[in-house]
Amino acid sequence: MQAVPSEYLAIDRKERANKPFFDLDLRPVRDRMGDFDDVVIEFSPERAMSEAARCVHCPDPAPCMLACPAHNDIPSAMWLIEQGKFLEAAQLYHKTSSLPETCGRVCPHEQLCQGSCVDNKTQEPVLTGELEAFAVDFERRTAGHVIPLGSPTGKRVALIGAGPASLGCADVLVQQGHEVTIFEAKPAPGGLLLYGIPNFKLPKAVWFEKWEEFERAGVKFVPNFYVGRDKSIDQLLDEGFDAVFLGVGSEIDAKMERTPGTDLPGVYEATDFLIRGNVARNLLPENMQQPLEIGSRVVVVGGGDTASDCLRTALRLGAAEVTCVYRRTEHEMPGGKKDRRMAREEGAKYRFLTQPVRFIAGEDGRLAAVECIEMALGEPDASGRRRPVPVPDSNFSVACDTAILALGYWPDPIISKTTPELETHDWGLITVADKETGATSRPGVFSAGDCVTGPDLVVTAMVGGRKAALAIDEYLKQR
Ligand SMILES: Cc1cc2nc3c(=O)[nH]c(=O)nc-3n(C[C@H](O)[C@H](O)[C@H](O)COP(=O)(O)OP(=O)(O)OC[C@H]3O[C@@H](n4cnc5c(N)ncnc54)[C@H](O)[C@@H]3O)c2cc1C
Ligand code: SF4
Repeated sequence: MQAVPSEYLAIDRKERANKPFFDLDLRPVRDRMGDFDDVVIEFSPERAMSEAARCVHCPDPAPCMLACPAHNDIPSAMWLIEQGKFLEAAQLYHKTSSLPETCGRVCPHEQLCQGSCVDNKTQEPVLTGELEAFAVDFERRTAGHVIPLGSPTGKRVALIGAGPASLGCADVLVQQGHEVTIFEAKPAPGGLLLYGIPNFKLPKAVWFEKWEEFERAGVKFVPNFYVGRDKSIDQLLDEGFDAVFLGVGSEIDAKMERTPGTDLPGVYEATDFLIRGNVARNLLPENMQQPLEIGSRVVVVGGGDTASDCLRTALRLGAAEVTCVYRRTEHEMPGGKKDRRMAREEGAKYRFLTQPVRFIAGEDGRLAAVECIEMALGEPDASGRRRPVPVPDSNFSVACDTAILALGYWPDPIISKTTPELETHDWGLITVADKETGATSRPGVFSAGDCVTGPDLVVTAMVGGRKAALAIDEYLKQR
């Protein structure tokens, strides 16, 4: 239910719907190519108030609330922002979201809250994502946010992996009074917020401040701890943890099987490339300390958001010619249009209906070219998209110094291999009885996020973690 009920607002909805729209202000391309700073220029208070005043306040429940996986009370937040009550708006977001400063920036808004805004019928949607980030940033810079803690219960919960799923779970668990320890394989927490999404989309400083917020709430992070190798789930339970949450993500890069040359120097997997290209050296895992060598011509293979992130990272690292090759057409591309538009503005080129068949070494043994074949679209496959089929005798070569494979992700099998009776399905995704609880086949072991759904979104992982926390709380009360 909305905190500010729409039906009591004495507003002229027609006048609001006809207010002029001004899109997000972006830094000029020549400026943003010189650094990894945020591309979006944040709203001033006046700009935020006038943008929020475009909301027509649909009847409760508003379509934007329903489309938001966290069901944020967006119309009420819009009303508060319009009145200049930014701190009150931020408080509303904290009620339903553990990462509003992040989701406001990185959600695919055009498919979620903004995509469902009724203003789409007449003109452009209210920029609800940017307004969410604005309100929470304002709070952070002025009053600060403190996670409210519940009375201590004496129960201890181990969370495995420190990405959005575990962060959502930790946020709710400490508010119920439980003690939370997060074991993370990498040198720092954040999951893909730190070791994936580039700084120009999500400034690392935003995550670092959030990390401090969790630490102030007593959440204990244990870095460089790879569960399954350093300790098993059963050992953690034997050592006195009352429940375990698995938020280990789905981070193993998909391989280009049966394609020769993927092991050549100059061919990178997307995760390795993005981590080494975007993360400060002191936070890099030991096996990723070698600087990238990217040369001037880069080919990125894939069509998702990760491919866009790789293209834009390569351009910022100084590559002169950056080309995305994708085996279907732009119409079938899974990645968001906004990221692709920005990649194009920044100089990325696209070759559709193109499939690499071989990576070719030069005389020095490093990558020198990618041999490709043209594709045509055949009948739809299981995903409903038309299957790409090779066009005979259409092979050609693209000269390049670097190739980046952004083909998708699989879960790491270590947890399922080392946890007896933990059920998994479809290439290792963790089976849960019900997505509302995240209960796995092992009593006391819960899970959510990409390791349950496959690669998805920050907001869906965070919401899954929050729901699992409520189920863990119920489980602990019954023990
Ligand atoms: C390059 C890239 C860009 C993206 N951009 C966006 C975007 O713009 N917007 C959006 O909404 N989503 C985006 N996503 C998707 C989003 O980041 C994920 O859906 C989200 O982070 C999933 O959260 P998670 O907590 O399930 O997993 P993760 O964020 O992957 O976190 C899992 C954590 O578990 C740790 N871990 C794994 N195994 C173990 C173990 N055995 N022991 C201890 N720790 C372990 C990992 O090191 C990792 O830190 C992007 C993904 C990628 C790869
Ligand atoms: S969490 Fe994402 S979908 Fe929900 S309101 Fe915020 S930006 Fe929109």
